[in-house]
Amino acid sequence: MKFCLCILATVLAAAALCLAAEKDIHQGVLVRGKLIVQEGKPTELQTSDGRRLRLDGDNPTRKVLGDSRLNGFEVQARGHLSSTGEFTIDPIHTHGFMVNRDGHLKMVTYWCEVCSIRAYTPGPCVCCQQETTLDLRDPDQDERQ
Ligand SMILES: [Zn+2]
Repeated sequence: MKFCLCILATVLAAAALCLAAEKDIHQGVLVRGKLIVQEGKPTELQTSDGRRLRLDGDNPTRKVLGDSRLNGFEVQARGHLSSTGEFTIDPIHTHGFMVNRDGHLKMVTYWCEVCSIRAYTPGPCVCCQQETTLDLRDPDQDERQ
């Protein structure tokens, strides 16, 4: 089992290197694929060669991963493969998880129209408790907006 994980880790590392001079390689491995969000099951990433990685992360990341609105998106995740076979995404403030829309990487954010408040996890607005809308944003846009 350990042997297999070693191979998988090596493959992931090689894949990350193939994905070229992507920044922050030293912080973790980059994986890409389709996000599969299923109710009651761990969210998975399906890579182009058909492998499935269970995704995990800190609490805010877990909430984002559980958002069914993201099901089917092409995503990129940066993190580490754990010994239990899960891919642990880097902490949410590092923006280790990005969604690919129309060829552009976007940050996952949530927006309350009423209060003009942005959040990084799905759920009701901290202010008015209305459900926030999914708002994919360019990383170079000002985060305070
Ligand atoms: Zn609000």
